Amino acid sequence: MDFRIGNGYDIHRLKEGRKLILGGVLIPYEKGFVAHSDGDALIHSIIDALLGALALGDIGSHFPDNDEMYKNIDSSILLKKVLRIINAQNYEIVNIDTNIIAQKPKLAPYIPNIIDNLALLTNLNKNQISVKAKTNENMDSVGECKAIETNCVVLLKRINY
Ligand code: ZN
Repeated sequence: MDFRIGNGYDIHRLKEGRKLILGGVLIPYEKGFVAHSDGDALIHSIIDALLGALALGDIGSHFPDNDEMYKNIDSSILLKKVLRIINAQNYEIVNIDTNIIAQKPKLAPYIPNIIDNLALLTNLNKNQISVKAKTNENMDSVGECKAIETNCVVLLKRINY
């Protein structure tokens, strides 16, 4: 099999006085993620999509949230570990397509920075990475600014030697 597809989903609660980090980029906002790690819901979705594509479990099975080793960890480090796992299975990323669903803050101004940073972390070109931001039309927990949700689809291709 030459191609594999994976999808990832994440949601984190927002709380005042915490940092809001998406795709490894610090976003200025009065609230941030409540999580064991840095709570980077975008990177968590990407990790789950990568692992899912190769049926290798999920972020929780690789990095348990009761493990002190991962407390407040920079999710970029976890992404790099997963990329090494993918490469060790002889697969590389074709493209990544993501959504961030957040009522606030307005994310459009930060999307170019997020794409730049993800390109750097994954060693991909910017045109292989898509990050889209939406609101939840003021509905439910996301629409009430209590949480931010993300999802992601990735395509992997077998590396031919
Ligand atoms: Zn998460």
